[in-house]
Amino acid sequence: MTSPSRHIDVKGGPDRAFAYQMMATLAVPIFVLDRNARVIIWNQACERLTGVSADDMIGTSEHWRCFYEEQRPTLADVMLANSASELDKLYTCHTACPSSANLTAESWCDMPRIGKRRYLAADASPIFDDDGRLTAVVETLRDLTEEKEAQVALQQLATRDGLTGLANRRCFDDTLHAEWTRAMRAKQPLSLLMVDVDNFKAYNDANGHLGGDECLKRIAEAVAAEMRANDLVARYGGEEFAVILPNQSLKGAAIVAERIRCRVEGLQVPAVAPDAYGRHRQAGTSTAELPSRRVTVSIGAATALVSNEHSASELVAIADAALYRAKHLGRNRISMPT
Ligand code: GH3
Ligand code: MG
Ligand code: MG
Repeated sequence: MTSPSRHIDVKGGPDRAFAYQMMATLAVPIFVLDRNARVIIWNQACERLTGVSADDMIGTSEHWRCFYEEQRPTLADVMLANSASELDKLYTCHTACPSSANLTAESWCDMPRIGKRRYLAADASPIFDDDGRLTAVVETLRDLTEEKEAQVALQQLATRDGLTGLANRRCFDDTLHAEWTRAMRAKQPLSLLMVDVDNFKAYNDANGHLGGDECLKRIAEAVAAEMRANDLVARYGGEEFAVILPNQSLKGAAIVAERIRCRVEGLQVPAVAPDAYGRHRQAGTSTAELPSRRVTVSIGAATALVSNEHSASELVAIADAALYRAKHLGRNRISMPT
């Protein structure tokens, strides 16, 4: 074994070769850029992380290619260019440490050479010469892919409905309250649609629960296909969906509702006449008057205006009442508050 003292120079610090060797073999991926943004160190852990050898990197400014498909600065480049204002658009999150002048940031990286995206956290630390000029930047990397994937999966579990992939009831409740507050503050209308599958019990009885599940998935996709970027569609429960339409008037909500109704009908999923179960017959409806034999939805709408006194939960109750009317009037239709 080599004696550590062999690497101690006259000033009592490690000599250059030793320091270099230590950097090269550290388990943490590190690269160093000189002041012209050329790679001067690319350690073995960085080779393993990126799949690119130090021989290919040293002396070049091509280090971005190891992380991204398209040219863009790494954190070390940002520090060299003194352009921390760019961090917002480059990274998912970032912090600057005023006491140490370090930058920390994280985001997904394409990793073209290894062909698999990784979520990397980077720390950039400046190296100054005796006159206080920036001469190099060390970038240290941490692979947080597994933690990030676990976090995303957990978030999915907490906020998404397992069957349809839509937002779940809890996410709906949180979003509705947040949108309510935002709408009142911004003095904008907020609309809500309650969408309920017609005669779904009969469908389930005829096709089995799994067949019913498949049908719910197709309807969920159809409803989601009508959404704009800021809208939220959730599985409210059972065969019922709720749609939050921020900054949408009642008239606009009616248009969206009608589009959803048409799209679901257009799926042409064969439906089962509920007469076999006596419900509509009992209500005095003849078989000839039964709704078309396709799966359809009924939709109730409600809109909160700034001048309204309603609360977010009252909005749900109003949309629910409208939905009930749509059912009562014969299903496969939309209904507005009276
Ligand atoms: P209406 O037109 O009045 O809404 O009649 P409906 O038959 O749709 O309403 P009802 O409330 O009587 O029945 C709803 C059915 O939805 C009963 C239940 O078994 C079924 N359902 C609820 N959740 C699920 C689910 O996750 N999967 C399946 N396959 N069926 C479900
Ligand atoms: Mg129903
Ligand atoms: Mg229902």
